[in-house]
Amino acid sequence: MKVPIGRDLDAGELRLISEVQRGAGCNCECPGCRNRLVAKRYKDKSDHFAHYQSKGSDSALPRLFSRNNHIQAWFAELSEFLNGD
Ligand SMILES: [Zn+2]
Repeated sequence: MKVPIGRDLDAGELRLISEVQRGAGCNCECPGCRNRLVAKRYKDKSDHFAHYQSKGSDSALPRLFSRNNHIQAWFAELSEFLNGD
């Protein structure tokens, strides 16, 4: 699942893929389900965040947090971000 935005774990602010380091070093969480994100950066494909998945642990969160829930949460975060001070 592609994640369009991340939230910086230290600053608590939204980050675009172009603003962060590649991989887990992006230090971002999903603004929807709050799982850790990894930054996927490609030369030819569009860059995006993805949920971090550690080997062998099939997280239950993606099932509990459906695609629609994610999208609603992202829009809520973004509108707050855009309307905030
Ligand atoms: Zn998520």
